[in-house]
Amino acid sequence: MKLPGGLARRLLLRVLLFSLCFTVLASAVQLYFEYRREMRDIEARLELIRVGYLASFERSLWDLNQEQLNVQLHGLVDFPDIAQARLRSADFNLMQGSESGRGPLRVERFALAFQPPDGERRELGELEVSIDLGAVYLRLLHGGLASLLWMGVFLCGLAVALSWLFHSLVTRHLRRMADFVRGLTGGDLGTELALDKVRSGEDDEIDTVADALDGLRRALRAELRRREADREALQSTRDELQRRVERRTASLRRAKEEAEAANRAKSRFLATMSHEIRTPLGGILGMAELLRAAPLGEQDRRRLQALSTAGEGLLAILNEVLHFAKLEDGASQPEPVDFSLRRLLDDVVTLLEPRAQDNGTVLRLRVDPQVRDACRGAEQFLRQVLSNLVANAVKFTEEGEVLLEVAVLASDEAGQRLRFSVTDDGIGISSEQQEKIFQRFTQASDEVARRYGGTGLGLAISKRLVESMGGEIGVESLEGEGSTFWFEIALAPGVVPSATAIVECSPALEVLVVEDVALNREVAQALLERDGHRVHLADDAEPALALAASRRFDLILLDMHLPGMSGLELCRAIRGQAEGRNVRTPVFAFTASVQPGMVRRYFEAGMQGVLGKPLRLEQLRRALAGVTGDAADETVDSGPLDHRVLDTHRRLLGEHKLAELLDSLWRLIDQQWPLLLDALRQDDAVEAASLAHRLAGSCRSMGLRGLGDCLGELEEAALAGASLMGWTDKLDREKAVVAELLKSTPA
Ligand code: ADP
Repeated sequence: MKLPGGLARRLLLRVLLFSLCFTVLASAVQLYFEYRREMRDIEARLELIRVGYLASFERSLWDLNQEQLNVQLHGLVDFPDIAQARLRSADFNLMQGSESGRGPLRVERFALAFQPPDGERRELGELEVSIDLGAVYLRLLHGGLASLLWMGVFLCGLAVALSWLFHSLVTRHLRRMADFVRGLTGGDLGTELALDKVRSGEDDEIDTVADALDGLRRALRAELRRREADREALQSTRDELQRRVERRTASLRRAKEEAEAANRAKSRFLATMSHEIRTPLGGILGMAELLRAAPLGEQDRRRLQALSTAGEGLLAILNEVLHFAKLEDGASQPEPVDFSLRRLLDDVVTLLEPRAQDNGTVLRLRVDPQVRDACRGAEQFLRQVLSNLVANAVKFTEEGEVLLEVAVLASDEAGQRLRFSVTDDGIGISSEQQEKIFQRFTQASDEVARRYGGTGLGLAISKRLVESMGGEIGVESLEGEGSTFWFEIALAPGVVPSATAIVECSPALEVLVVEDVALNREVAQALLERDGHRVHLADDAEPALALAASRRFDLILLDMHLPGMSGLELCRAIRGQAEGRNVRTPVFAFTASVQPGMVRRYFEAGMQGVLGKPLRLEQLRRALAGVTGDAADETVDSGPLDHRVLDTHRRLLGEHKLAELLDSLWRLIDQQWPLLLDALRQDDAVEAASLAHRLAGSCRSMGLRGLGDCLGELEEAALAGASLMGWTDKLDREKAVVAELLKSTPA
């Protein structure tokens, strides 16, 4: 059995203390009553002596019978607790009993007298009885102690029994319940509360508490289960929701990717189609242009005019579509140039004046005198936006007035912020439509579309162009009353070139055009002849070689895709002719393939320039100006950068695209460089040759000649099995030179 502790122990201690007090008190009371009884006994004995013994003592004393007296004294001493008996008289002094008492004595004296029958009463002496109170006390003490002892033992036993009973009835169950509650707090809700106790018919308090606790456990368990079920339900709902979101996101992503791909495909398709249609259309228009010189009747002339006008319209639409596709692709970026704003505005007005006159509309220009003439910015973009807006205003206004106005919003050293506005009093645009017309392919209404035609792209293009110049565009309009289209852009101050950048006319040249498509051939011829050049045509390599052998040309335009021989081969063949007439004649590739890799190959084959297809007059004139005026082309350019290649890229692809290409080339170099150096360190000739080959091609294509050549030499050395020692330093030097140059001469 476990030792009772806690409550039971406290109970035991208190019962013990109480028993002790009680025992002491009870013993004291009992002692008191014992003492009183003893005293009464002594009194009774003394009374007995007085009544029963005194007379016989008086007689014996009268008789002087000493012996008798001794016997009688002895008889007294035999009484309990009488320690001594002494007789004192005139004749005797007798004593019985021990002299030395054990404790305090009580002495009683009795006077002895005798009345003889004949005489008077006479005093005889005195009897002295000593009672031993010590013995009485000792007896009392023993009795008291014995009762104290027994009572103590009894009460202690009672206390132990009580506390054991208390323990077995109460505290051990309380302990069990405490353990049970601790288990509950620890999360054990599965174990029932079982007390080590037999239940009789009626529940006692312990049973009631135990039942309440077990009830608590069951309630907690039910609540926990309910919560767990709720949590699981919530979790599964959340999981389901998550899965749904994921599915939805994935399908949205797919849809977005598909839409983007479709949009890209659409843009590509549009661009390709426009491009494909534009080439033959250019031919048709060229032919129409040539036909103008022919002797035609009035009716045919009008038909020809109608053909030209329709063709020009179609070309404009195609150009818009192509332009928009390029803008969407991000291929078209503003390139800042110096220009005269006044001249630009005059150009736009002059160009559209005839159309305005056709509509009976007056076209006016008002420029704030504060507007600076010399500006620097994306002139082409600005020109196009103004042309679009003025053309629209003229188109939608009959017998009215169109005002092109330029105002200064802010002005400082860094430039001017200008507001361009085109106001007309034409058909106007409803407010709902005003929000939409800047979206691509959107027109105000079907009726407008039917009546006025158009693609619905002009404003979308204008918006993009204005935004790419960092400006904003908008419209204010009232239906039936007119519209004001406006945009605001900042223009930096610039230097106005003394003459136009385009060389209007170069001296008359002898030009050989080698092109298998008749239409292209004739367009090129017509354009060249318009500027007064003399043109010789060949449709294949053979006649071209024959012509080249027969005379010297100032310029040869070579189509790169001839049926018999490629343009590259033909170029080499012309250069290598025995007659040697055109060894130094500038040869231009005339091609639609103007990717950097191709351009490099044209130059490597000994060509001086590239003309993109479709051929544009301005481009042609610029190329011709280079041929006639720039003798530097003849000198061999041998720096680390091939400027001719770079300039051609710049002309054909635009500044932005060139920068992009150079950027991606540097990324490729940065990525491959460590691999190449590693291969060199390992003396791995095969790997080094393959890496060098790849990088060399890319470098040369982009005009990084020094680095390209160095890599080329490395490739050759590696393939020839030469030592690869020392190449690392050389390569790093070349790379550093090119990096430095590109940094200082922005592409
Ligand atoms: P397009 O003129 O080729 O149809 P735009 O994008 O230039 O395409 O113009 C979109 C539409 O905005 C036009 O179809 C026309 O309905 C409306 N719009 C543009 N300019 C004007 C204007 N000055 N007056 C009235 N409506 C205009």
